[in-house]
Amino acid sequence: MEAVRNYDVVVIGAGFSGLYAVHSLRETGFSVIALEKADGVGGTWFWNRYPGARCDVQSIEYSYSFSKEIQQEWEWTELMSAQPEIEAYLNFVADRLDLRRDIQLSTLVTAMSYDEDGHRWTIETEGGETFVARFVVAATGCLSEPLEPGLRGLETFAGTCLFTNRFPKEGFDFRGHRVGVIGTGSSGVQCIPIIAEQADHLTVFQRSAAYSRPADNRPLRPGELDAVKANYEELRVKQRGAYAGLVSFGAVSFEGMEPPERRILETPIDERLALVDQLGWSAPGAWADVMFDLEANQAGTELYGELIRRVVDDPEVAESLVPHYPMGCKRQILDTGYFETFNRDHVTLVDLRKDPIEEITATGVTTRDRHHDVDVLVLATGFDAMTGTLNRIEITGRNGRMLRDVWNSEGPVSYLGLQVAGFPNLFTVTGPGSPSVLTNMVVSIEQHVEWITDCLRYLRDHDHRTIEAEPDAQEEWVDHAASLVQGTIRNSEGCNSWYLGANVPGKRRIHMPYIGGLPAYRRKCDEVVAAGYSGFSLS
Ligand code: NAP
Repeated sequence: MEAVRNYDVVVIGAGFSGLYAVHSLRETGFSVIALEKADGVGGTWFWNRYPGARCDVQSIEYSYSFSKEIQQEWEWTELMSAQPEIEAYLNFVADRLDLRRDIQLSTLVTAMSYDEDGHRWTIETEGGETFVARFVVAATGCLSEPLEPGLRGLETFAGTCLFTNRFPKEGFDFRGHRVGVIGTGSSGVQCIPIIAEQADHLTVFQRSAAYSRPADNRPLRPGELDAVKANYEELRVKQRGAYAGLVSFGAVSFEGMEPPERRILETPIDERLALVDQLGWSAPGAWADVMFDLEANQAGTELYGELIRRVVDDPEVAESLVPHYPMGCKRQILDTGYFETFNRDHVTLVDLRKDPIEEITATGVTTRDRHHDVDVLVLATGFDAMTGTLNRIEITGRNGRMLRDVWNSEGPVSYLGLQVAGFPNLFTVTGPGSPSVLTNMVVSIEQHVEWITDCLRYLRDHDHRTIEAEPDAQEEWVDHAASLVQGTIRNSEGCNSWYLGANVPGKRRIHMPYIGGLPAYRRKCDEVVAAGYSGFSLS
């Protein structure tokens, strides 16, 4: 039997969070190992290698700021990078900082339990290894647990079945195939135009239409990146002070942008349409009332429909592509030629709201009205977000209580998205209750990793062995976070987003990410530290 291996800290995951956690904790003098289930580093950017996978935050912003050297050395080639470039960047970081010697790949953590007497976690892996550590940092990502789509008969499909969120490393050549794509969230919208370029025929099965708009991606112009590098810190400071941790979304810069004052419900229809001519895809959201009033929101969606009708030739197809749920309820999607794809002769849209899927058979997809023959099925059906990964690990805390049971019964509770009461010395990077997925993830990840590193240094310097969220502080934070979502579009009727856990049967409907913005959240985290880690008990 293998010996138990001891560390100060075990990090779970080697994506953006885990890589920085290994570096930061190691530099602070802790012995650390990251356990990563994949056979490569990169996390999200390792798994989601489907055709068209691309970040919708500009690479100059969606990148680490902690190392001035890496920031200067790495050369981005596009405004918004595709998956291979981001994966290559994370591999470069791993090499540049010599992180691989403290990362164990192909290692799935299956269980961990807290020893209340020894104040330590015992971590077990699928391969039968055991690690013991005083602290665990779950750098497991927010969108890393694929959701089984619950399609009857899927296992009987005789063709090739591919999932966007675990796409084969060697890729897939769609030429010569009849392909079906199920799912039209960010992943589906990105891969559909590329698959359409290759496949003999593409059938898109859409349950909920997407609020998508052109990404307007492009190669970086000569000298553009150098200009950013010459003054990088200024951009980083702006990012940290911005509501969502970024100063642009897609190709659109927020700098100097004032919130709109015009109200859609007080504007005649012809003037609304004139704004569509003027602002294009920015028009539906360019009103003071659309994100606060459901009737105004519906009027914004109508402008969105107008934009789709201007692109899509077939009126019936165009109508099916207009979302039926409030704008702003799900994540805004950025695409490259998505709506244009439905003008191609060999692309068919099946509107599942009119003709739902009944089952998958050996030869394809049977909807209520007919059977669709396909040789390849691509499932872009999403994730059990934010809590799914940790819920699949047997995590036993104080008094034998399992994290999964706590989250199933109370909802995804957490103090600041950093710790859950009853689970001492276990930290979650971008956990539920933190801004995480509503922000530029890298900015939020850096803030959490730095907060956790400072915390462990403080515990060491003050001879504390444990830190644990206090139940009262946790409850107060959960109530505060919930109060901000009450009455907003994000929690409105008809809004069934993964933010609310609504895509997972049986999951409690609670808005998981913190909606109050990154600056307010950072302030709160800093105040907690300044007050000697208020809301945490230290022993
Ligand atoms: P998603 O947004 O959850 O979309 C899943 C899609 O699959 C939805 O259209 C859903 O329909 C559909 N679906 C699920 N089960 C189905 C079933 N049984 N039958 C028919 N349709 C089914 O997942 P995702 O597209 O992978 O994106 C998840 C998140 O990852 C995004 O919101 C974003 O945060 C992130 N992401 C970002 C990027 C980027 O930066 N560009 C790219 C990809 C992903 P319903 O909506 O009706 O449930």
